[in-house]
Amino acid sequence: MTEQGITILNDVTLNSVSNDGNKPVITANGQNYTFDAVLYATGRKPNTANIGLENTDITTNERGAIVVNDTCESSVPSVYAVGDVNGGPQFTYISLDDFRIVFGALTGNGQYTLKDRKNIPYTTFLTPPLARVGLTEEDAINKGYTVKTKEMLVATMPRAHVNDYLKGAFKIVVNAENNLILGATLYSQGAEELINLIKMAMDNNIPYTYFKNQIFTHPTMVENLNDLCNF
Ligand SMILES: Cc1cc2nc3c(=O)[nH]c(=O)nc-3n(C[C@H](O)[C@H](O)[C@H](O)COP(=O)(O)OP(=O)(O)OC[C@H]3O[C@@H](n4cnc5c(N)ncnc54)[C@H](O)[C@@H]3O)c2cc1C
Repeated sequence: MTEQGITILNDVTLNSVSNDGNKPVITANGQNYTFDAVLYATGRKPNTANIGLENTDITTNERGAIVVNDTCESSVPSVYAVGDVNGGPQFTYISLDDFRIVFGALTGNGQYTLKDRKNIPYTTFLTPPLARVGLTEEDAINKGYTVKTKEMLVATMPRAHVNDYLKGAFKIVVNAENNLILGATLYSQGAEELINLIKMAMDNNIPYTYFKNQIFTHPTMVENLNDLCNF
């Protein structure tokens, strides 16, 4: 973003937002900034207000999420809450996975519950996409893991040159005691696809060393996992 000429100011106290008759003006930390437009990001929360839950025995938490058990069942038996409304990670694929759990519970086939859910990868669809799974190095250290890590610049990757798009980096965080992958951050073209492969390795306790000697097609972004995991 900085390369694109965007200035990022963190820890700013907004004093006012006004309009000079033409454009919005923000006063922040005592200085005036004029913009073409102001986008105001508030975050999201479960949309449970004004649907009459107060007339039921369905329990909500302090953020308005419907409290559910491990099969997405609310405090009223046989009433289920799936997706954003139950306060889990707010992604389409988590709503789908909640469905799998409820479908299993209702048809009697279900052994899979919220407790069994493994790593949840996610992507911020920037250009290029920023995809993550598991812990960052800082998270892992804070959790008491002894970690080893490796980073690679996309500019060193053959496929990036084929694509003529060199921006980005890969980083992997590994538990130094057993070589299991604790997390990864991929910031590159194709990262939104690749992250799912790392998620599967993590879910199945496949050590990072497995990627080092995997045969991958060339020229692809995925083949760079050979080098990323060569340490
Ligand atoms: C801008 C934006 C970008 C996103 N991008 C991504 C992304 O790239 N990838 C991703 O995985 N997730 C993304 N998400 C999140 C994803 O959209 C949600 O997690 C997902 O839609 C949740 O599914 P849901 O079925 O729980 O709720 P919803 O999809 O919100 O469905 C709820 C439905 O209930 C209806 N409804 C609400 N109140 C009532 C009522 N009283 N009576 C009847 N019907 C009602 C609504 O109209 C809606 O159709 C994004 C969300 C936003 C806002």
